[in-house]
Amino acid sequence: AVLDPDPLSPAGRVSHHHIQTAYTDPAGLQQLSDRCVAVTTEFENVPAQALAQLAYARTVSPGAEAVAIAQDRAREKSHFESCGVPVAPYAVIETPVQLAVVPDDLLPGILKTASMGYDGKGQVRVHTQAELAAAWADLKNVPCVLEKMLPLQLECSVIVARGADGACVNLPVQRNLHRDGILAVTEVYEGNLPPALVERAVVAAKSIANGVQYVGVLCVEFFVLESDSAAARTLGGLVVNEMAPRPHNSGHYSMDACDVSQFELQVRTLAGLPLTQPRQHSPSIMLNLLGDIWPDGGTPPWAQVLALPGTHLHLYGKATASKGRKMGHLTVTGASAAQVHATALQAAGLLGIAAF
Ligand code: ATP
Ligand code: MG
Repeated sequence: AVLDPDPLSPAGRVSHHHIQTAYTDPAGLQQLSDRCVAVTTEFENVPAQALAQLAYARTVSPGAEAVAIAQDRAREKSHFESCGVPVAPYAVIETPVQLAVVPDDLLPGILKTASMGYDGKGQVRVHTQAELAAAWADLKNVPCVLEKMLPLQLECSVIVARGADGACVNLPVQRNLHRDGILAVTEVYEGNLPPALVERAVVAAKSIANGVQYVGVLCVEFFVLESDSAAARTLGGLVVNEMAPRPHNSGHYSMDACDVSQFELQVRTLAGLPLTQPRQHSPSIMLNLLGDIWPDGGTPPWAQVLALPGTHLHLYGKATASKGRKMGHLTVTGASAAQVHATALQAAGLLGIAAF
């Protein structure tokens, strides 16, 4: 059963029961509670209060507290710091006084709304104090976080699944390419990242999950800094960006390339079933399919793409394609990283996705 206010909700369309009310509607929550033994959230901006309400009568994971932390960039950063994982230098901006005292060395930076941001929405890049003030006004002076712009060598993410008993497993670490603040490509295979980095990222992600007694699937996104930069010298090279309290776009490859997908892990944590360490059986590359590649009134050349070996197409059933909207993804699997890379580039070429 799915509760989603959107009549065209992709999950609602494939569920047995689509409860179409606001997330906080008491009658809607009651219906969900009557239908389900356990409840989870797939979209991180479901109000934590709705989860707290459901938790009176049902198993709810992740818990409202962990979701509330992930929904607020300022709280999220304090949590990361309390777990001993470095974050980008930042300042919380909630009042004009806080704006006035922002130190110059946080510029150039990215002003991000503290809540409700995703896919680069609610973010403005600023270079001067004047631009910062104008950007905050443009964002209607809502609570924000200004983050120092860091020199990124690459980005990666770790998906962990943690059970109520504290057992914690992880998917192989994903290497991610973002374009315009939106995930574009995820590459996962042996050698995609230096082994020492992989180990540090997994340890950091698990400590972040343990620190909130997290139950469910959690994705932690990291920045890897340019090794010869001043930022890398002060922050230590690996910086946590944010966490998503749910199966994550960067983990979608696990459906086709691992013996246990992030979605199965989610069900297992929810149902209190044992967690086993997932094994990746094929190197893989995932391409996000944004609305941008839909021709006017038509569809992308799926048949040509599916004629390439090891391509797996997943479309979400969203009614309309628009710029920047995630419509689906294509996972490419194969015998070797080189082969997967060549096929993914061919698919990207057919679809009009820039090479990587
Ligand atoms: P998501 O869809 O992942 O929730 P979001 O809207 O929350 O995205 P962020 O993850 O904060 O956005 O930022 C999106 C991307 O912008 C990052 O993956 C990175 O490429 C770039 N970016 C964000 N913050 C910084 C920073 N401090 N320095 C350099 N690049 C950054
Ligand atoms: Mg992000």
